[in-house]
Amino acid sequence: MSSEHSSTASLQKEATILVVDDQSLNIQVINALLSPDYNILAATSGAKAIELCQKTKPDLILMDVVMPQKSGWETCRELKLIKELESIPVIFVTGLESEEEENTCWDAGGVDFIKKPVNATTLKQRVKAHLKLKFQSDFLRNMAFVDGLTCVYNRRFFDDAYDKALRQHARDNLGMVVGIVDVDYFKRFNDRYGHLAGDDCLRSIAKALRSVMRRPHDVFARYGGEEFACILPETDLLGAQVIAKKMLEAVRRLSIPHEESPFNHVTVSIGFAAVDADSESSRDELLAKADENLYKAKQSGRDRAVSG
Ligand code: GH3
Ligand code: MG
Ligand code: MG
Repeated sequence: MSSEHSSTASLQKEATILVVDDQSLNIQVINALLSPDYNILAATSGAKAIELCQKTKPDLILMDVVMPQKSGWETCRELKLIKELESIPVIFVTGLESEEEENTCWDAGGVDFIKKPVNATTLKQRVKAHLKLKFQSDFLRNMAFVDGLTCVYNRRFFDDAYDKALRQHARDNLGMVVGIVDVDYFKRFNDRYGHLAGDDCLRSIAKALRSVMRRPHDVFARYGGEEFACILPETDLLGAQVIAKKMLEAVRRLSIPHEESPFNHVTVSIGFAAVDADSESSRDELLAKADENLYKAKQSGRDRAVSG
């Protein structure tokens, strides 16, 4: 088996499928067919399905059409209006026959439908095909947010994540810190060792810095040429200082020789800024503050962090 095939197979093995049907017997039938290959979740109403989707973000939904309260069509329409859930493909499993009813499945946002009683092979093949498409489109979407040189998130992702983090902070007021990291004397590094060595250096630094951020909601991205940025939600300046120390240390530990630097090895400078709990600081003000602190770190000798 080629590596491409085996990776697709392993991806599908981990796929989670939500089966929505008001009859638990129907759920059991589908579960028996698909559970050897996938993780199966079940919901017995449209409302429960939406709730479960928000919690678990399944990779695919198999949706009954006729259900009391909310129909499968209505449930699908609602899912398509929720940004985080709209890309989950919905396959209708339907006993309905008419052309009009088929058309409603497409209009509601379904990607396919399977007729009841379910043909086991058709079900398995349709699920496999739609999961493959789902994973391919997820992959392409994610690639649009990854920096080509360093493989960390790019500026586009950062800008989006930054706005989201600020909105989250406005709701929970649990603190938030933003940091900008800039490589010291990097122009000299390129001039001395060449641009390709410069690229390698940026890759190593990105990897080292990223490894410092451990929390699931921390964001680390390439911000520009030789600058990186991070978002640390639910963090105050004291917490940021701990991270800063680890970041500086991680880059020093790389021990990349830099004869044109007074440190003799590659270092970075960092500026941090925290959202002010009392006053609403704007999106740009916070970044400007971090940038100002980065400038102070440069002015006061480099290879250090300034926060406040
Ligand atoms: P400072 O310590 O004040 O930050 O000095 P510096 O030389 O690092 O800063 P400056 O802004 O003068 O130079 C940044 C350099 O980073 C210049 C540019 O060629 C280099 N650079 C930016 N992006 C890349 C890249 O993708 N690859 C490489 N190799 N170099 C890059
Ligand atoms: Mg710079
Ligand atoms: Mg620099």
